[in-house]
Amino acid sequence: MVQTLPAPRGKLTENRPLNDLTWLRVGGPADYLFQPADIEDLQHFLRDLPAEVPVFPMGVGSNLIVRDGGLRAVVIRLGRGFNGISVDGNTVTAGAAALDTHVARKAADVGVDLTFLRTIPGSIGGAVRMNAGCYGSYTEDVLRKATIVTRQGEVLDLSPEDLNFRYRQSDLPDGAVLVSATFEGPAGDPEELHTRMAAQLQKRDETQPTKDRSAGSTFRNPAGFSSTGRADDVHDLKAWKVIDDAGMRGASRGGAQMSPKHSNFLINTGSATASDLEGLGEEVRKKVYETSGITLEWEIMRVGDPLKE
Ligand SMILES: Cc1cc2nc3c(=O)[nH]c(=O)nc-3n(C[C@H](O)[C@H](O)[C@H](O)COP(=O)(O)OP(=O)(O)OC[C@H]3O[C@@H](n4cnc5c(N)ncnc54)[C@H](O)[C@@H]3O)c2cc1C
Repeated sequence: MVQTLPAPRGKLTENRPLNDLTWLRVGGPADYLFQPADIEDLQHFLRDLPAEVPVFPMGVGSNLIVRDGGLRAVVIRLGRGFNGISVDGNTVTAGAAALDTHVARKAADVGVDLTFLRTIPGSIGGAVRMNAGCYGSYTEDVLRKATIVTRQGEVLDLSPEDLNFRYRQSDLPDGAVLVSATFEGPAGDPEELHTRMAAQLQKRDETQPTKDRSAGSTFRNPAGFSSTGRADDVHDLKAWKVIDDAGMRGASRGGAQMSPKHSNFLINTGSATASDLEGLGEEVRKKVYETSGITLEWEIMRVGDPLKE
């Protein structure tokens, strides 16, 4: 990317590899990585950035495969300056860089039930964008307001209706960066909330490869609902089941593997490239289609360019 970029107060790094910023530890370089100092810095940078330069906001990379050729964009990653958490009654406001886990724990301390966030390893920005959820609760159930900086550098408050939440999806204006979100959770007893979170963590560890490098569920359940279910989840068909039926549990390609512990988890066993991971995922989709006629949809987002030959 040959461009003159605005000079921010935060950190702007050219040609920055993204592999160490994703859970799967793969991915080529971003043209630029921008880590804004604070909201004003982000506003000025976006306002002054030529309109044709693409922007990609990322959280902590727990739902991403960045391809090996990297991203032709300015990747924006929020850090300190965007990770505060404050509580007012049953309302919790968190910066987009705050980890879901920290928000859930802080909310529980003051008797607000955002427990479902405890076992999701992403950031609040990623939770809102992906409508993250588990154990029958979703971000859309508790979100009251999200604040963004638009691609033009304006600060805007969005309502849940503006975000148009769907299964693992919400709408944001193009190039907008979420900077904070306000949630309202049911009241609960702090001790009981912490006990519940501990039980959920234990359940995860028993059933999912939580110690491996993964990006969570690879494919959506065919019915479109979380495997941890909610009241209207009447579909028994799970992605892991159709993957098992296609004989792909434990299948591998290069350093990529469909986890033997949970067959809908794609893992990097150590030396995987993004191409190994995506290639194995596509092979699974093909085998599942051949055996059951079901077309699995990716839940992991894949972004960027493949490596040029
Ligand atoms: C072991 C494991 C278990 C998981 N379990 C679950 C689960 O139970 N339920 C679930 O829903 N997910 C689960 N996930 C997936 C993942 O944690 C969630 O999708 C999470 O919300 C992603 O957050 P992130 O910060 O990592 O976002 P990233 O992966 O970095 O990005 C995901 C998307 O969010 C956008 N985004 C991130 N931050 C911002 C921002 N500030 N502004 C605008 N856009 C932004 C990115 O552009 C991208 O489109 C799991 C992942 C792992 C590794």
